[in-house]
Amino acid sequence: MWLKTITKTAALAAFAITGSANMAFADEKPEYALVIHGGAGTITPDKLTPELDKEIRGTLLKALSTGQDILAAGGTSLDAITATIQVMENSPHFNAGKGAVFTAEGKNELDSSIMDGATLNAGAVSGVSNVKNPITLARAVMEKSVHVMLQGNGAEQFADEQGIERAEDAYFYTEYRWGQLQDAKAKQQGPLLDHDGKEHSSVQDKTGGDYKFGTVGAVALDKHGNLAAGTSTGGMTNKSHGRVGDSPIIGAGTYANNKSCAVSATGHGEFFIRATVAHSICALMEYGGLSLEEASNRIVMEQLVEMGGDGGIIAVDKDGNMVMPFNTAGMFRGKVSSNIEADVSIYKD
Ligand code: ASP
Repeated sequence: MWLKTITKTAALAAFAITGSANMAFADEKPEYALVIHGGAGTITPDKLTPELDKEIRGTLLKALSTGQDILAAGGTSLDAITATIQVMENSPHFNAGKGAVFTAEGKNELDSSIMDGATLNAGAVSGVSNVKNPITLARAVMEKSVHVMLQGNGAEQFADEQGIERAEDAYFYTEYRWGQLQDAKAKQQGPLLDHDGKEHSSVQDKTGGDYKFGTVGAVALDKHGNLAAGTSTGGMTNKSHGRVGDSPIIGAGTYANNKSCAVSATGHGEFFIRATVAHSICALMEYGGLSLEEASNRIVMEQLVEMGGDGGIIAVDKDGNMVMPFNTAGMFRGKVSSNIEADVSIYKD
């Protein structure tokens, strides 16, 4: 107790000197917390122009402030992550919603999922086309259907029944993504992870990790103590019609439980499914007594590395601790809480 008092006194002294309210309480449990990702991979400064770097950071900050406004006003973690993910889905810079990659057939097949840590309710959609914000549809599946996952035509029909916004093929067309598909076909490559230009096998990563993933995700703790997690993606460039990655799989790409933590993943989906990444991290905390940092490092930096699966995760636990580990060169990411200002990063440092 006395130690905490001293720490707080020191922090308040720092506040007096620096004038930063955030510094004063950075060591205490935050009232709310939000962490986001926009994909992981070999993202080094030479791969992004300064303009693109700036634009992406700007979108990440906008996504964070959108969610923070909701959380600061006492809104729910589910509302915060839904709105946050929508911002990234509406950007052409991420492999989700508008910026989704193309399948081998030249289509966009989108996957998304969401989970409520308070109730363990979950909703997911896979292989949906012409849905502007797949995270909104995943949430509708959770809240307005008796199912957890809907796929393809059935999910699209459900979107129409629920009045969820659809968009023409043209909305999802970006020259960059179309070029990636043509490139992959010209080189007669198999499915490619976002921006990598290299072929992937489901059991062995032959790329040496030279790629990044543009999937988006968000996890949050709200003022009511409830956790939520959500993920949205276009999957892999040149993927086979019907291929489903980890992003819409509850327990692999997304998981939330108020007893432990909320997790959203990005990376080579086949590995993340086989390692049940998101649930394993929560289970290591709940049943194994590991801290959030220990649990996420065990899975991302040890198990996935041993298997050969590249990528990363974001997570927040019930005490508001936030982590963003990745075993690639970079990951688009950011965090904010009632204790710390919004902070976004791309590269390893
Ligand atoms: N995990 C996604 C998938 O395999 C890809 C990504 O994270 O970019 O579909």
